[in-house]
Amino acid sequence: MLKIKNLSASYGHIEALRDVSIEAEKGQIVSIIGSNGAGKTTLLRCISGQVKPTTGAIEFLGEPLPAKVHQIVKKGVVHVPEGRRTFSGLTVRDNLLVGGYLFKGKALEENLKKCYQLFPILEQRKGQYAGTLSGGEQQMLAIARGLMSNPKLILLDEPSLGLAPIIVNQVYELIAQIREQGITVLLVEQNALKALNICDRAYVLENGRIALSGTGCELLNSDKVKKAYLGG
Ligand code: ATP
Repeated sequence: MLKIKNLSASYGHIEALRDVSIEAEKGQIVSIIGSNGAGKTTLLRCISGQVKPTTGAIEFLGEPLPAKVHQIVKKGVVHVPEGRRTFSGLTVRDNLLVGGYLFKGKALEENLKKCYQLFPILEQRKGQYAGTLSGGEQQMLAIARGLMSNPKLILLDEPSLGLAPIIVNQVYELIAQIREQGITVLLVEQNALKALNICDRAYVLENGRIALSGTGCELLNSDKVKKAYLGG
């Protein structure tokens, strides 16, 4: 479904990605783990059209992805950024409607209904301002807002960041449910244990390059991964 070949990207003189190749099949969770500054966010920004790669190719469903963000969303790729970035002065419902901007009328209501089924807490909070939600609820809202565009591929950037372990577990249960709906998930995480446990395939990004790849299980058993990312 997603094929990235030899992708490089820079911010001025700072090279953030070098020769990165990754693949994801339909309905898989593919995790990208790596430490601060490894290039994980840049990789997602390249896919969602916010950063223009210097070289390389991104194919989605057998075709090159278009260049512009809104065209990429139309193709079925949505990016849920690090730090939630919900619209704090808008209600939960209005945040979701913004995410569903491609749809109108019945189709929009249908998407909203599906979101509330997956995230009942958001239905309970639909009239509340997003800025007054807890961190966990804001993360749910950010993911739900992404799902409102009916994506085939969702890019999740550090969904566990800053959340208590019990809330992280809830977020991960939702990510598994998203996969069950046939949506492909590209999951960027510093929480390597969680990300490797849930995924079908994973890549380790170090200094902008892919250092290792394999199934989640293979990487969980890798001495290198254990030492560098799983606390020994
Ligand atoms: P983190 O987990 O801390 O978000 P990351 O793995 O997502 O890290 P990136 O944010 O992709 O890493 O950053 C990769 C490199 O690119 C880093 O060296 C970073 O300093 C640099 N970088 C990121 N964004 C910019 C920017 N807007 N301008 C200049 N350099 C940037």
